[in-house]
Amino acid sequence: MYPHLFSPLDLGFTTLKNRMLMGSMHTGLEEEKGNLTRLAAYFAERAKGGVGLMVTGGIAPNRQGWLMPFGAKMTSSAEARKHQMVTTAVHEHGSKICMQILHAGRYAAHPFLIAPSAIQAPISPFKPWKMSGRLIRATIADFANAAAYAREGGYDGIEIMGSEGYLINQFIAPRTNQRDDEWGGDFERRIRFPLEIMKAVRAKVGPDFIVIFRVSMLDLVENGSTWEEVVALAQAIERAGATMINTGIGWHEARVPTIATLVPRGAYAWVTERLMEAVNVPLITSNRINTPEKAEEIIASGMAHMVSMARPFLADPYFAEKARTGKSHLINTCIGCNQACLDHVFARKEPSCLVNPRACRETIIPPVAQEKETRKKIAVIGAGPAGLSAATELAGRGHEVHLFESGSEIGGQFNIAKRIPGKEEFYETLRYYQNLIRETGVVLHLNTRATATALIEQQFSDVVLATGVVPRTPTIEGINHPKAISYIDAILGNKPVGNKVAIIGAGGIGFDTATLLTTPKEHGSIQEYQAEWGIDTTYTNRGGIIRPAKQTPVRQVVILQRSKGKVGAKLGKTTGWAHRIALKNRGVQMLDDVQYHKIDDLGLHVTIKGEAQVLEVDHVIICAGQESLRELLEPLTSAGVRVQVIGGAKEAAELDAKRAIEDGILVNV
Ligand code: NAP
Ligand code: SF4
Repeated sequence: MYPHLFSPLDLGFTTLKNRMLMGSMHTGLEEEKGNLTRLAAYFAERAKGGVGLMVTGGIAPNRQGWLMPFGAKMTSSAEARKHQMVTTAVHEHGSKICMQILHAGRYAAHPFLIAPSAIQAPISPFKPWKMSGRLIRATIADFANAAAYAREGGYDGIEIMGSEGYLINQFIAPRTNQRDDEWGGDFERRIRFPLEIMKAVRAKVGPDFIVIFRVSMLDLVENGSTWEEVVALAQAIERAGATMINTGIGWHEARVPTIATLVPRGAYAWVTERLMEAVNVPLITSNRINTPEKAEEIIASGMAHMVSMARPFLADPYFAEKARTGKSHLINTCIGCNQACLDHVFARKEPSCLVNPRACRETIIPPVAQEKETRKKIAVIGAGPAGLSAATELAGRGHEVHLFESGSEIGGQFNIAKRIPGKEEFYETLRYYQNLIRETGVVLHLNTRATATALIEQQFSDVVLATGVVPRTPTIEGINHPKAISYIDAILGNKPVGNKVAIIGAGGIGFDTATLLTTPKEHGSIQEYQAEWGIDTTYTNRGGIIRPAKQTPVRQVVILQRSKGKVGAKLGKTTGWAHRIALKNRGVQMLDDVQYHKIDDLGLHVTIKGEAQVLEVDHVIICAGQESLRELLEPLTSAGVRVQVIGGAKEAAELDAKRAIEDGILVNV
């Protein structure tokens, strides 16, 4: 299985057991007070899962480089000793780990931020201080010292974060470096800072220590690097002593989604491939690679030597081991949603993973195998996200589990989500549960509407109600008019939808429906994604961006909400902006402060910001949220059956798959 992915990578002084790198991702566990117990458990689990090499989240070389106040840094032997717990745990399980050194520069979320020039980032509330020559030299020394401390802490190497628009990248690109001294001006002077760092690090750590340099190969911002500059930088970095070069794609301020689920798999491997002939050190590629098949294909076709995946190892710590042992059908695939990982990190909430709520909570929610319980006969009602999660969790704990589903297939709301263009990854989640049902021995009863009488008769000791939600029907005159269609009928194609559409409700489902209704027929290819987002594959312009291709509207769509303010404000923090831009580019109108009066043959009668008008549309699609469905609760509890209600059946407000799956994992019977 996957011969290229599992071929060792010889780095001269050390060998990596396979070509999989768990890429850097800041989780917040790096900032744990006291010992790094949780970080150690998090990496130990992934090491056990067979990944060849891992990179920690960004650790600052000094206080100014902090991502946020009191962020993790590596500036002393005491801090290095704290990390020994992490590195020992990883080594015990036969994997290797590098520490990423990241200086946030003008992206720092604190007021003492510094940069090559005093130019504020569009995504930052603070203007940075321009660095003096003395401070630049001190910062280079801090990088080298941090690398030496990382070695003291037991790391196998470090990664120097030179991409994504952080400090080093800010020196390299003319967009952010407008100096005219030895650290800025022409290209040679702009790349002096990264090169001096690379040389100082290598001099300090010696030849037998992995040093990965992450080069921004495609900035995706105006006035970024040219391709010729990327090549020249990579070659200079190699000469300065890098062991491997990793691929960085897109600055954080870029208005191009580069890792969201709407990005086709492997959409950026072509960038790494362009560099393959130009350098001699191994190249690592990244971005939206989430299956062993895609990773194998990339390495086999010579597009890179190694594949970096970060979120896929959050979703399934055993990704590598399952692939190696012929169990890739049981991999819990990362769906690229960002909902529990990056959205939580940016909101300073505890991160985890939508499809794997155990991620980052290894010390809090123990693995299933450790929890074998006295075998009980349990019924789980509803095979949507919550029911699937609960049934497989309970069966994994050793119970006899019967899963009842009134429909002809498992999935519930996933079956709606999977039809949205750009959300096809939900098919993988369904494949995973389908196989896990078999693996854990859940008895699946499809096309079976469970009744209280039957459940009582069959003597289940416990019933888990995961009966989900039904769409809310708002009280609007004419809501039963033929022009009014529920989102379920629109998305499943049960009713034809005309060319002029109004959508009532601007939540996730309103946006999903608008996406479906405005996506051109030919959709899903890397070329189409590149054209839609203005990615310049010829690299004619600095930063590799061009004006996005003009879209011919498929339909005229307007999304409406009653509340005042930004439409779709509650969409995901790291992905909502991309959904809004995509729909605006397709001509979708977004209106707030709307009151709904009537639906009739003319269309939808509304008042918008105090002005009465009629939206002459063919159809009005109702995406006004959901209500819980738990009709079995009362008869079962009255009969003395122990019932636990989870997911949408428990609480429809703010329901998403993240909460549904977590409820299932935490079910207590
Ligand atoms: P939602 O996010 O609660 O949005 C419901 C929308 O309907 C709101 O815009 C609300 O706005 C409007 N609304 C509520 N009651 C109404 C009423 N009585 N009459 C008219 N309009 C009403 O629900 P959803 O869009 O159905 O999504 C359900 C859940 O799935 C959410 O938690 C969502 O996060 C999740 N989801 C997430 C994604 C994603 O991409 N992350 C995608 C799909 C679904 P006003 O009250 O301002 O009118
Ligand atoms: Fe992947 Fe979503 Fe999990 Fe993040 S939360 S790791 S994007 S599945």
